[in-house]
Amino acid sequence: MLPEFELLMPRTLPEALEMMNESSRVIPLAGGTSLLVDLRGRISRPQMLINIGGLDELRGVRVEEGYVVVGSAVTIADLKHNVLIAKHGQVLQQATRVFANPLVRNRATIGGNLAYGSPAADAAPPLLVLDAEVELTCKDAKRTVPLKEFITGVRETVRHPRELVTAIRWPILPEGSVGVFHKLGLRKADAISVLSIAVMLHRKNTEDYAQVRIALGAVAPTPIRVTPAEELLSGGPLTPEVIARAAQLASESTHAISDIRGSAAYRKRVITALVKRLLTNLAEGTKEKKHNESEGYHS
Ligand SMILES: Cc1cc2nc3c(=O)[nH]c(=O)nc-3n(C[C@H](O)[C@H](O)[C@H](O)COP(=O)(O)OP(=O)(O)OC[C@H]3O[C@@H](n4cnc5c(N)ncnc54)[C@H](O)[C@@H]3O)c2cc1C
Repeated sequence: MLPEFELLMPRTLPEALEMMNESSRVIPLAGGTSLLVDLRGRISRPQMLINIGGLDELRGVRVEEGYVVVGSAVTIADLKHNVLIAKHGQVLQQATRVFANPLVRNRATIGGNLAYGSPAADAAPPLLVLDAEVELTCKDAKRTVPLKEFITGVRETVRHPRELVTAIRWPILPEGSVGVFHKLGLRKADAISVLSIAVMLHRKNTEDYAQVRIALGAVAPTPIRVTPAEELLSGGPLTPEVIARAAQLASESTHAISDIRGSAAYRKRVITALVKRLLTNLAEGTKEKKHNESEGYHS
């Protein structure tokens, strides 16, 4: 049974920010797929929730001044079918297909996924390789924080209690960019990630890559970018030798965690294998999507 709490129901974003401004103990409720589970398990005992899931200002996906802007209350299911995300955030759309199950995807929001601060948030690695930023708004101010600085620890973010995550945005990708996401779970569907990985390549010409971005989820206290491997790979051709060295470096430079889903040693071995496989597939123009389909991840 849920513990008792007061539920605030703002009709507009300004009204919600006004309510949040009155007390630092008002907790945002979006889809509730994490928060209500925590309430039931008595992991969290807020006295006052504010329902922000229905606010129109937090919905919608648009392209604006060279950026893709996604409202924080856009659901994972919305992202899965959105044409702008298919065009400008394909790597994120891949993650939506293996996210939880259809029921959870219909409720879970992208803002809630990041604001919860889980190392295993499946939207985080794709958004990290897209170089996404998180828009935070309080009654009198707005600021934007790079996603790589937003989550600071397990269930910890830089969000102040009176701020809401209002949007997530990233620059439109240069022509010829390709990305891929892969999730490893204990089951093939409806599983929390043991490890997730996103890779993005920006082409310089047909052979060389101007920039390579790699991000990992569920391997450290926060989702991370793998900078040493990115630096090794960027600027040149992706030969099998360079890919093998980068895969090794990605594993060695990651301080992997052990938990109930896997040991640090296991995660390190998987990092080497997946970085190598995804980079090779991308470089050869092979779509990881096909792999996910054949593994039965789609629904
Ligand atoms: C069965 C099940 C399966 C799941 N599978 C996955 C999975 O495969 N991958 C995955 O990543 N996650 C998974 N989750 C976790 C969860 O569904 C996601 O993290 C989801 O995106 C959370 O979003 P929400 O809108 O439900 O957030 P809520 O539960 O409403 O909120 C989560 C936290 O974020 C805060 N918050 C929410 N929105 C905002 C905002 N706009 N501004 C500030 N703070 C905010 C809340 O106060 C709360 O602390 C699963 C959960 C369940 C129950």
